[in-house]
Amino acid sequence: MSGQDEKTVLLSIGSNMGDRKANIEFAEKRLEECPFISSLRKASLYETEPVGYTDQPDFLNTCVSFMTTLTPDELLDLTSGIENECHRKRIIRWGPRTLDIDIIFYGDQQIDTPRLTIPHPRWKERAFVIVPAKELMDLDVPVPEGSDVRLFLSRV
Ligand code: ADP
Ligand code: MG
Repeated sequence: MSGQDEKTVLLSIGSNMGDRKANIEFAEKRLEECPFISSLRKASLYETEPVGYTDQPDFLNTCVSFMTTLTPDELLDLTSGIENECHRKRIIRWGPRTLDIDIIFYGDQQIDTPRLTIPHPRWKERAFVIVPAKELMDLDVPVPEGSDVRLFLSRV
């Protein structure tokens, strides 16, 4: 589990049910507690309108970056476990959720397996990923036009 090289990871975290801020902070605490994760940095929290299925509450979104020796599959197991701990219920695909954690980057690796596509296939279309991510890393991509991403809580 900890035998491989450290990689830099970027995660997108979102919530639009229950206490959204507490749900995101719960996920961050769980990640910080993991012995195979270090140097965790948090972007600000942003309030964003839902994309796709729009008849649902606004989201809070952020990104975190960290170093890890977990493999991509181990990382997905960890993040799915955190989602489940937060009692995430998936009633409608792309519908409201207490917690959604997506792996955007895993080092510079490209991964395409039945469980994982990394980089996340839609990250360049998602202002709610790009805006917080730009606080944590140099990203040479534009913020999509017309996107509504409002600063909710500055953390940088
Ligand atoms: P979305 O985040 O697209 O709204 P879900 O969170 O419900 O959808 O999707 C969950 C599934 O997506 C997981 O079971 C996981 O196997 C798969 N998946 C594929 N690529 C990734 C990724 N880069 N990060 C997180 N989950 C991913
Ligand atoms: Mg997801």
